[in-house]
Amino acid sequence: MPLFEFGCEDCGARFEKRLDSAKDVGTVVCSRCGAANVKRKMSAFAAVGARTSSGGLSSSAPACAPGGG
Ligand SMILES: [Zn+2]
Repeated sequence: MPLFEFGCEDCGARFEKRLDSAKDVGTVVCSRCGAANVKRKMSAFAAVGARTSSGGLSSSAPACAPGGG
């Protein structure tokens, strides 16, 4: 299953979800606050160091690199 990345418009959380199909994107809710106001993000493979500093929450943790083989 493809892995999709989402960003919550409400709390700003970022999370990933494995969906059977892209059409299931509409059923995804935030894994932190449960809001349905989430947006699908582009594949993290291409994006490099693109983060916004709005609000400023938790400390900076090392990015979760995709475990390749
Ligand atoms: Zn949220």
